[in-house]
Amino acid sequence: MSNIDNFKQMKKGIDLAQAMAEADRCLLCHDAPCSQNCPADTEPGVFIRKLRFKNITGAIRTIKQNNILGGACGVLCPTARLCEKACSARFKSSARPEGADRPIQIGKIQRFLIEHSWERDFKVFEKAEPRSEKVAIVGSGPAGLSCAAELAKDGYQATIFEAHPEPGGVLRYGVVSFRFDLNFLEKELADVKALGVQFKCNTPINGPEGAEKLLEEGYNAVFLAPGLWDAFSLKSENKNIDGLFSSVEYLEALRNGRLLEMENKVCGKTVAVIGGGSVAMDCIESAAELGAQDVYLIYRRSYLQMPAETEELNSAMQAGVHFMLLNQPVDYITDDADRIKGLQIMRTRLGEADDSGRRKPEIIPDSQWTLDADVVIEAIGNKAPDDSTQWWPHVKVDAKKLIKADPLTGLTSVQGIFAGGDIIRGPALVVNAVQDGKIAAKAIKAYLGKQEE
Ligand SMILES: Cc1cc2nc3c(=O)[nH]c(=O)nc-3n(C[C@H](O)[C@H](O)[C@H](O)COP(=O)(O)OP(=O)(O)OC[C@H]3O[C@@H](n4cnc5c(N)ncnc54)[C@H](O)[C@@H]3O)c2cc1C
Ligand code: SF4
Repeated sequence: MSNIDNFKQMKKGIDLAQAMAEADRCLLCHDAPCSQNCPADTEPGVFIRKLRFKNITGAIRTIKQNNILGGACGVLCPTARLCEKACSARFKSSARPEGADRPIQIGKIQRFLIEHSWERDFKVFEKAEPRSEKVAIVGSGPAGLSCAAELAKDGYQATIFEAHPEPGGVLRYGVVSFRFDLNFLEKELADVKALGVQFKCNTPINGPEGAEKLLEEGYNAVFLAPGLWDAFSLKSENKNIDGLFSSVEYLEALRNGRLLEMENKVCGKTVAVIGGGSVAMDCIESAAELGAQDVYLIYRRSYLQMPAETEELNSAMQAGVHFMLLNQPVDYITDDADRIKGLQIMRTRLGEADDSGRRKPEIIPDSQWTLDADVVIEAIGNKAPDDSTQWWPHVKVDAKKLIKADPLTGLTSVQGIFAGGDIIRGPALVVNAVQDGKIAAKAIKAYLGKQEE
């Protein structure tokens, strides 16, 4: 089996018997703390209760009505710090025997129910009576899809403008396929398309005032959800280094037909990944899967400060990744042909806590060392493109060029223009983007209702 075969499919989910067994453990909490801890109001307390009483179609309805990307969230949500963290079943009690004090596997049940709906071709939504109002949505990631679906459910004409050739945002061009495969994405997208949402792919809205002009072009409202697709880099501006990738370039290459090319670059080689978050984990795990001889993770803080999920960190350790903590790369070493040879690194120690509450790394003087590497991947965060403010010059942004939007409505500083997802929050989660899309769709409907009066 070739290394790239490992990329083709994500791990199987649970089956009906396992889902029922999990639902049978649910305590049917009156206050459903699981539901309170779902950022997109997917209502696990309700769908698990329905499943427990064998109302499977009702359970599927609850998920899809609340969260059009319920399948994606079931697979990708860090449930251990969301719904499952709050689950009452995880707390010890005299009524529960030893070993029963673990959370209900809410994410796995959610994924099962959505996959079950596809297997049985069960449709939750009827097509709505069409309305005349048109809404333009910029970006087909989770925020754009969620907003478009909410609008289309009520008959509004929702058109998504997407810069990439295919819709899905990070779900298609970011997350590695062994965590979330295209087959799954296509089915979830089919649910959105069935509602009547229109997609205009290969259509970036990035000209001067491009996003604002949509209002003049006959759209009654606009929802901005372009995510964050420019990568931060440690290299000097405009310097091209062969073998140095941003996480955006590297992960996108794995997803858009260049898997073999990347395998040739990585297999048998030394790969260094810079960063400590979930994106860095996707990069190291995929490099290990592609057959890298050694994978180094270089992170300037320590283990406890790493933003990645515990499960991801454990999996990276099991894959044999070398964790080089308390180390800060300061420069790249290249040969005469500008090909990467390694990194110059300074050791760090932790100082006082910074604004994020994490202890700040301080470089230790005279501690420089070098690490040889054939491939380096920078996973140190993404930002809005520098020229993005020209696409919406009257929309207020903060110092990081994130759009300022009312958290209760998604409304920006321009009437009729709403925003959500990573472009207002900074790097966040699929489930947060879904909720932003829902909030904005509700506010857009209210705004369009007032226009009519
Ligand atoms: C590698 C990676 C792995 C992740 N893993 C997880 C995970 O496991 N679980 C989780 O919950 N979250 C994860 N996240 C975070 C999550 O994917 C994001 O928070 C979420 O996708 C944000 O959704 P969005 O709709 O705001 O933007 P995006 O998903 O970024 O989608 C934005 C879309 O807008 C398009 N676009 C950009 N500019 C324009 C323009 N000018 N005109 C038209 N279209 C444009 C882009 O091409 C893109 O398709 C991950 C993120 C990354 C990068
Ligand atoms: S918190 Fe846990 S036990 Fe209570 S309703 Fe939700 S899933 Fe069931």
